Amino acid sequence: MNEIKVTERPQCPHAKSCGGCQLQNMSYPRQLQWKQAKVVREIGRFCRVEEIVGMAEPYNYRNKVQAAFGRDGKGKIISGVYQSSSHRIVSVDKCMIEDRTADKIIVTIRKMLPSFKLTAYDERTCQGFLRHVLVKRGFATNEVMVVLVVSSPIFKNQKPFIKELLEKHPEITTIVMNINDKFTSLVLGKQEKVLYGKGYIEDICCGCRFRISAKSFYQINPVQTEVLYNTAVEYAGLTGKETVLDAYCGIGTIGMVASRHAGKVAGVELNADAVKDAIYNAKLNDIKNCWFTCADAGQFMERMAGEGESADVVFMDPPRAGSDKRFLESLIHMGPKKVVYISCNPETLSRDLEILVKGGYKAVKAQPVDMFPHTNHIECVVSLVKQK
Ligand code: SAH
Repeated sequence: MNEIKVTERPQCPHAKSCGGCQLQNMSYPRQLQWKQAKVVREIGRFCRVEEIVGMAEPYNYRNKVQAAFGRDGKGKIISGVYQSSSHRIVSVDKCMIEDRTADKIIVTIRKMLPSFKLTAYDERTCQGFLRHVLVKRGFATNEVMVVLVVSSPIFKNQKPFIKELLEKHPEITTIVMNINDKFTSLVLGKQEKVLYGKGYIEDICCGCRFRISAKSFYQINPVQTEVLYNTAVEYAGLTGKETVLDAYCGIGTIGMVASRHAGKVAGVELNADAVKDAIYNAKLNDIKNCWFTCADAGQFMERMAGEGESADVVFMDPPRAGSDKRFLESLIHMGPKKVVYISCNPETLSRDLEILVKGGYKAVKAQPVDMFPHTNHIECVVSLVKQK
């Protein structure tokens, strides 16, 4: 195994009620062994699995922190996480995997609410104002975005509240109000209003600068994201001429990092905000060989295949549910020489690899990267090549 130095730390006091860090009873080296074994079990029949890359300091890595607000039995405002598979809020002020600044900002907001006559939302009665607070921090830039998810656009004492929050946390660079007035378990609503700053943060990853808005997906572990992306780009074996497709591209990160070694890159992503960020990000980095489309990746792929268009390399980074038939079948039909599959779920990865292997691809190797220490989530990059 990798030599990992682990700082001794007490176990989290919320371990039982939160359920977020499922592996925290294991030492970190043991967690890595557990993840390695799981990847081998799921996909070892397809290819060699390289040794998982762990973190040297596997704590406080989460650059995006989300807290639910509510009230306890005595009516006191609490903030924290939902108990696993329920909607009961476990009060948490400090978390061993979350960004420390983000945790402090959330506690400050909770303490400030009563003096500004602001209430926390109650899911049972649909009454109350503040539903969630989301904090995102740029690891390399230190920019901090606070998103106040509220039930109504009528924000009592908004100006003095924002003023005091900024006085207490001058590190905050932008504050966004997100209005979620629906009866839903989704955190973010559609409507947004920038209350302070530019409404987004920027971060730097693999030498590229990225704009990240409240709703766009951005990898949550910046240190390991560099390892993940560098592995993905290495697996693609680009020479500078290739046509590349970055499917499920989010804000365009993988495609843009790859674009420096490729001829041209097309990115496809379903979330319109993320696509806007991707287009902006290409300009921000003076990248002229990337294009982005807002569409379902399967539909886009089908259209590309139907029009006889092809790509030399396809990066695919679907959500936990994995890809779908439509995407995989068109991919096989299109027949790129290389496919680099970035997966956050070994089970759906295994299911999708089965289809790709039957369709004429050979899985060459897989590299697990520990993006989520102490949790049972596993990230893995697989290199596939088309068989002649
Ligand atoms: N490659 C990016 C994002 C990966 S997360 C990165 O590394 O940051 C998966 C992304 O797939 C999310 O941005 C999500 O919005 C997008 N997505 C989910 N379903 C999709 C679909 N059917 N078609 C295209 N994109 C989809």
